[in-house]
Amino acid sequence: MSALSPTLPQRGKEKQLSLLAVEPHPDDESIGMGGTLARYSAEGVRTTLVTATRGEVGEILDKDLDPKEAAPRLATIREGELRNAVKVLGVDELVFLGYEDSGMAGLPRNREPKTFWQADEEEAIERLIQVVRRVRPQVMVTQNEFGGYAHPDHIKTHRVAIGAFFYAGDVKRFPGGEPFRPSKLYYSAFPKSLMRQMAEAMERAGVENRFSTDGEPPPFAVSDDRVTTWLDVSQFVDKKLAAMRAHRTQIPEDSWFLKLNEALGPKAWGIETFERVRSSVEAPIPEDDLFAGLR
Ligand SMILES: [Zn+2]
Repeated sequence: MSALSPTLPQRGKEKQLSLLAVEPHPDDESIGMGGTLARYSAEGVRTTLVTATRGEVGEILDKDLDPKEAAPRLATIREGELRNAVKVLGVDELVFLGYEDSGMAGLPRNREPKTFWQADEEEAIERLIQVVRRVRPQVMVTQNEFGGYAHPDHIKTHRVAIGAFFYAGDVKRFPGGEPFRPSKLYYSAFPKSLMRQMAEAMERAGVENRFSTDGEPPPFAVSDDRVTTWLDVSQFVDKKLAAMRAHRTQIPEDSWFLKLNEALGPKAWGIETFERVRSSVEAPIPEDDLFAGLR
Protein backbone atom coordinates (compact mmCIF):
# COMPACT_ATOMS: atom_id res chain seq x y z
CA MET A 1 0.00 0.00 0.00
CA SER A 2 1.01 3.58 -0.49
CA ALA A 3 2.19 5.67 2.40
CA LEU A 4 -0.70 7.91 3.37
CA SER A 5 -0.19 11.63 3.40
CA PRO A 6 -1.80 13.40 6.33
CA THR A 7 -2.57 16.45 4.20
CA LEU A 8 -4.25 14.90 1.19
CA PRO A 9 -7.73 13.44 1.14
CA GLN A 10 -7.84 9.94 -0.32
CA ARG A 11 -9.44 11.16 -3.52
CA GLY A 12 -8.09 8.31 -5.59
CA LYS A 13 -10.07 5.77 -3.63
CA GLU A 14 -13.54 7.17 -4.41
CA LYS A 15 -13.43 5.44 -7.77
CA GLN A 16 -10.41 3.17 -7.92
CA LEU A 17 -8.15 5.38 -9.97
CA SER A 18 -5.07 3.83 -11.48
CA LEU A 19 -1.92 5.38 -12.96
CA LEU A 20 0.58 3.48 -15.11
CA ALA A 21 4.04 4.92 -15.80
CA VAL A 22 6.16 3.28 -18.51
CA GLU A 23 9.87 4.16 -18.36
CA PRO A 24 13.08 2.86 -19.97
CA HIS A 25 15.59 2.67 -17.09
CA PRO A 26 15.75 2.76 -13.31
CA ASP A 27 15.97 6.52 -12.39
CA ASP A 28 13.85 7.89 -15.28
CA GLU A 29 10.75 7.58 -13.08
CA SER A 30 12.24 9.61 -10.22
CA ILE A 31 13.79 12.35 -12.37
CA GLY A 32 10.85 12.85 -14.72
CA MET A 33 7.84 12.15 -12.51
CA GLY A 34 8.91 11.24 -8.98
CA GLY A 35 6.77 13.98 -7.46
CA THR A 36 3.79 12.86 -9.55
CA LEU A 37 4.09 9.23 -8.46
CA ALA A 38 4.44 10.28 -4.82
CA ARG A 39 1.47 12.65 -5.03
CA TYR A 40 -0.95 10.18 -6.59
CA SER A 41 0.20 7.34 -4.35
CA ALA A 42 -0.51 9.58 -1.35
CA GLU A 43 -3.98 10.33 -2.74
CA GLY A 44 -4.78 6.63 -2.83
CA VAL A 45 -4.47 6.25 -6.61
CA ARG A 46 -3.13 2.80 -7.50
CA THR A 47 0.31 3.46 -9.02
CA THR A 48 2.20 1.00 -11.22
CA LEU A 49 5.64 1.49 -12.72
CA VAL A 50 6.82 -0.56 -15.68
CA THR A 51 10.56 -0.30 -16.35
CA ALA A 52 11.72 -1.75 -19.66
CA THR A 53 15.34 -2.52 -18.66
CA ARG A 54 17.50 -2.75 -15.56
CA GLY A 55 19.95 -0.16 -16.89
CA GLU A 56 22.68 -2.77 -17.34
CA VAL A 57 25.17 -0.45 -19.03
CA GLY A 58 24.61 2.78 -17.11
CA GLU A 59 27.34 4.72 -15.38
CA ILE A 60 28.67 3.79 -11.94
CA LEU A 61 29.07 7.05 -10.05
CA ASP A 62 28.60 5.67 -6.53
CA LYS A 63 31.93 6.43 -4.82
CA ASP A 64 31.51 3.44 -2.50
CA LEU A 65 31.69 1.08 -5.48
CA ASP A 66 34.68 -0.05 -7.53
CA PRO A 67 33.33 0.38 -11.07
CA LYS A 68 35.30 -2.56 -12.41
CA GLU A 69 34.01 -4.89 -9.73
CA ALA A 70 30.46 -3.54 -9.84
CA ALA A 71 29.95 -3.42 -13.64
CA PRO A 72 29.06 -7.11 -14.12
CA ARG A 73 26.38 -6.91 -11.42
CA LEU A 74 25.03 -3.48 -12.31
CA ALA A 75 21.61 -4.87 -13.24
CA THR A 76 21.16 -6.29 -9.74
CA ILE A 77 22.47 -3.11 -8.13
CA ARG A 78 20.15 -0.89 -10.14
CA GLU A 79 17.17 -3.14 -9.55
CA GLY A 80 17.82 -2.72 -5.82
CA GLU A 81 18.11 1.06 -6.22
CA LEU A 82 14.83 1.17 -8.11
CA ARG A 83 13.09 -0.93 -5.47
CA ASN A 84 14.26 1.56 -2.83
CA ALA A 85 13.10 4.51 -4.94
CA VAL A 86 9.60 3.15 -5.54
CA LYS A 87 9.27 2.37 -1.83
CA VAL A 88 10.03 6.03 -1.06
CA LEU A 89 7.52 7.19 -3.67
CA GLY A 90 4.80 4.82 -2.44
CA VAL A 91 4.42 3.10 -5.82
CA ASP A 92 2.14 0.07 -5.40
CA GLU A 93 3.70 -2.22 -7.98
CA LEU A 94 6.93 -2.38 -9.94
CA VAL A 95 7.08 -4.50 -13.10
CA PHE A 96 10.20 -5.15 -15.19
CA LEU A 97 9.42 -5.69 -18.85
CA GLY A 98 12.54 -7.88 -19.00
CA TYR A 99 14.76 -6.32 -21.67
CA GLU A 100 18.40 -5.23 -21.55
CA ASP A 101 19.72 -1.69 -21.73
CA SER A 102 20.73 -0.76 -25.31
CA GLY A 103 23.34 1.82 -24.29
CA MET A 104 23.61 5.37 -25.57
CA ALA A 105 22.78 6.08 -29.23
CA GLY A 106 25.47 5.04 -31.68
CA LEU A 107 27.23 2.45 -29.50
CA PRO A 108 27.83 -1.01 -31.05
CA ARG A 109 25.71 -2.43 -28.23
CA ASN A 110 22.63 -0.91 -29.90
CA ARG A 111 22.82 -3.83 -32.37
CA GLU A 112 23.03 -6.65 -29.84
CA PRO A 113 19.95 -8.90 -30.09
CA LYS A 114 19.27 -9.02 -26.34
CA THR A 115 18.82 -5.24 -26.10
CA PHE A 116 15.49 -3.48 -25.88
CA TRP A 117 16.29 -1.55 -29.07
CA GLN A 118 16.54 -4.82 -31.01
CA ALA A 119 13.59 -6.50 -29.26
CA ASP A 120 10.62 -7.57 -31.35
CA GLU A 121 8.22 -4.66 -31.03
CA GLU A 122 5.03 -6.74 -31.21
CA GLU A 123 6.30 -8.96 -28.44
CA ALA A 124 7.21 -5.99 -26.24
CA ILE A 125 3.78 -4.43 -26.85
CA GLU A 126 2.16 -7.76 -25.97
CA ARG A 127 4.05 -7.89 -22.65
CA LEU A 128 2.96 -4.37 -21.77
CA ILE A 129 -0.62 -5.02 -22.87
CA GLN A 130 -0.87 -7.83 -20.32
CA VAL A 131 0.09 -5.31 -17.60
CA VAL A 132 -2.41 -2.74 -18.89
CA ARG A 133 -5.24 -5.30 -18.95
CA ARG A 134 -4.41 -6.42 -15.42
CA VAL A 135 -3.99 -3.03 -13.68
CA ARG A 136 -6.56 -1.15 -15.85
CA PRO A 137 -5.05 2.34 -15.63
CA GLN A 138 -7.24 5.27 -16.64
CA VAL A 139 -4.03 7.26 -17.16
CA MET A 140 -0.77 6.21 -18.84
CA VAL A 141 2.42 8.30 -18.84
CA THR A 142 5.51 7.65 -20.94
CA GLN A 143 8.33 9.23 -22.98
CA ASN A 144 7.71 11.46 -26.01
CA GLU A 145 8.71 10.60 -29.58
CA PHE A 146 12.26 11.86 -29.06
CA GLY A 147 12.52 9.72 -25.96
CA GLY A 148 13.51 12.88 -24.10
CA TYR A 149 17.05 12.89 -25.43
CA ALA A 150 17.03 10.28 -28.20
CA HIS A 151 18.39 7.38 -26.14
CA PRO A 152 17.34 4.25 -28.08
CA ASP A 153 15.61 2.74 -25.03
CA HIS A 154 13.63 5.94 -24.51
CA ILE A 155 12.44 5.97 -28.12
CA LYS A 156 11.53 2.28 -27.96
CA THR A 157 9.65 2.84 -24.70
CA HIS A 158 7.60 5.52 -26.44
CA ARG A 159 6.68 3.22 -29.33
CA VAL A 160 5.85 0.24 -27.15
CA ALA A 161 3.75 2.33 -24.75
CA ILE A 162 1.74 3.82 -27.61
CA GLY A 163 1.17 0.34 -29.02
CA ALA A 164 -0.08 -0.93 -25.68
CA PHE A 165 -2.28 2.14 -25.13
CA PHE A 166 -4.11 1.54 -28.40
CA TYR A 167 -4.12 -2.24 -28.65
CA ALA A 168 -4.87 -3.24 -25.03
CA GLY A 169 -8.51 -2.80 -26.08
CA ASP A 170 -8.16 -5.10 -29.10
CA VAL A 171 -8.29 -8.79 -28.18
CA LYS A 172 -8.40 -9.84 -31.82
CA ARG A 173 -5.00 -8.34 -32.52
CA PHE A 174 -3.54 -9.22 -29.10
CA PRO A 175 -5.48 -12.07 -27.43
CA GLY A 176 -5.43 -12.93 -23.74
CA GLY A 177 -7.05 -11.17 -20.78
CA GLU A 178 -9.93 -8.72 -20.67
CA PRO A 179 -9.68 -5.86 -23.17
CA PHE A 180 -9.10 -2.44 -21.64
CA ARG A 181 -8.40 0.97 -23.14
CA PRO A 182 -6.91 3.67 -20.87
CA SER A 183 -8.66 7.04 -21.07
CA LYS A 184 -5.70 9.41 -21.18
CA LEU A 185 -2.16 9.22 -22.54
CA TYR A 186 0.61 11.61 -21.51
CA TYR A 187 4.25 12.27 -22.27
CA SER A 188 6.66 13.77 -19.78
CA ALA A 189 7.39 17.26 -21.11
CA PHE A 190 10.01 19.79 -20.08
CA PRO A 191 8.89 23.20 -21.37
CA LYS A 192 11.55 25.53 -22.75
CA SER A 193 10.38 28.42 -20.56
CA LEU A 194 10.83 26.41 -17.36
CA MET A 195 14.22 25.13 -18.56
CA ARG A 196 15.30 28.70 -19.29
CA GLN A 197 14.19 29.88 -15.83
CA MET A 198 16.10 27.04 -14.22
CA ALA A 199 19.20 27.79 -16.31
CA GLU A 200 19.12 31.45 -15.29
CA ALA A 201 18.61 30.60 -11.64
CA MET A 202 21.49 28.12 -11.77
CA GLU A 203 23.78 30.69 -13.33
CA ARG A 204 22.87 33.19 -10.62
CA ALA A 205 23.57 30.56 -7.97
CA GLY A 206 26.87 29.59 -9.59
CA VAL A 207 25.79 25.98 -10.14
CA GLU A 208 26.91 24.04 -13.19
CA ASN A 209 24.24 24.71 -15.78
CA ARG A 210 23.03 21.59 -17.56
CA PHE A 211 19.76 23.06 -18.80
CA SER A 212 21.15 25.38 -21.39
CA THR A 213 24.15 25.75 -23.66
CA ASP A 214 24.82 29.15 -25.21
CA GLY A 215 21.40 30.35 -24.13
CA GLU A 216 19.71 27.53 -26.06
CA PRO A 217 17.37 25.19 -24.17
CA PRO A 218 18.55 21.57 -23.86
CA PRO A 219 17.57 19.10 -26.59
CA PHE A 220 14.96 17.37 -24.44
CA ALA A 221 13.01 20.61 -23.89
CA VAL A 222 9.75 21.03 -25.82
CA SER A 223 7.99 24.21 -26.86
CA ASP A 224 5.62 25.50 -24.21
CA ASP A 225 2.55 25.06 -26.37
CA ARG A 226 2.98 21.28 -26.13
CA VAL A 227 2.68 21.37 -22.33
CA THR A 228 -0.92 20.84 -21.26
CA THR A 229 -0.54 19.74 -17.66
CA TRP A 230 1.22 21.48 -14.80
CA LEU A 231 1.23 19.43 -11.61
CA ASP A 232 1.94 20.93 -8.22
CA VAL A 233 4.15 18.39 -6.47
CA SER A 234 5.72 20.85 -4.03
CA GLN A 235 4.60 18.77 -1.04
CA PHE A 236 6.50 15.81 -2.45
CA VAL A 237 9.86 17.35 -3.34
CA ASP A 238 11.50 15.62 -0.37
CA LYS A 239 10.24 12.26 -1.58
CA LYS A 240 11.37 12.97 -5.13
CA LEU A 241 14.85 13.89 -3.90
CA ALA A 242 15.03 10.82 -1.65
CA ALA A 243 14.01 8.65 -4.61
CA MET A 244 16.67 10.29 -6.79
CA ARG A 245 19.25 9.66 -4.04
CA ALA A 246 18.22 5.99 -3.98
CA HIS A 247 19.74 5.73 -7.47
CA ARG A 248 23.22 5.96 -6.00
CA THR A 249 25.07 4.69 -9.08
CA GLN A 250 23.41 7.32 -11.28
CA ILE A 251 22.85 10.38 -9.10
CA PRO A 252 25.68 10.87 -6.59
CA GLU A 253 25.46 13.42 -3.80
CA ASP A 254 27.57 15.94 -5.77
CA SER A 255 25.46 15.66 -8.93
CA TRP A 256 24.03 18.80 -10.45
CA PHE A 257 20.54 17.34 -9.99
CA LEU A 258 20.89 17.59 -6.25
CA LYS A 259 22.89 20.85 -6.31
CA LEU A 260 20.02 22.37 -8.23
CA ASN A 261 17.80 21.80 -5.26
CA GLU A 262 20.32 23.38 -2.89
CA ALA A 263 20.51 26.42 -5.17
CA LEU A 264 16.84 26.89 -5.93
CA GLY A 265 15.08 25.18 -3.03
CA PRO A 266 11.79 23.40 -3.63
CA LYS A 267 11.13 25.61 -6.68
CA ALA A 268 13.56 23.42 -8.60
CA TRP A 269 11.39 20.34 -8.51
CA GLY A 270 8.03 21.59 -7.17
CA ILE A 271 6.27 21.34 -10.50
CA GLU A 272 6.16 18.45 -12.99
CA THR A 273 4.87 18.96 -16.49
CA PHE A 274 3.26 16.74 -19.11
CA GLU A 275 1.83 16.77 -22.60
CA ARG A 276 -1.62 15.24 -22.92
CA VAL A 277 -1.73 13.53 -26.31
CA ARG A 278 -4.96 11.52 -26.12
CA SER A 279 -8.06 11.77 -23.99
CA SER A 280 -11.42 10.11 -24.38
CA VAL A 281 -12.87 12.29 -21.59
CA GLU A 282 -13.52 16.03 -21.49
CA ALA A 283 -10.73 17.84 -19.65
CA PRO A 284 -9.49 21.42 -19.76
CA ILE A 285 -6.22 22.72 -21.20
CA PRO A 286 -4.26 23.69 -19.25
CA GLU A 287 -5.08 21.24 -16.48
CA ASP A 288 -3.49 20.66 -13.09
CA ASP A 289 -4.43 17.00 -12.59
CA LEU A 290 -3.70 13.91 -14.72
CA PHE A 291 -7.13 12.61 -13.66
CA ALA A 292 -9.04 15.76 -14.70
CA GLY A 293 -12.32 14.57 -16.22
CA LEU A 294 -12.06 11.17 -14.53
CA ARG A 295 -12.92 11.96 -10.91
ZN1 LIG B 1 16.80 6.52 -19.22
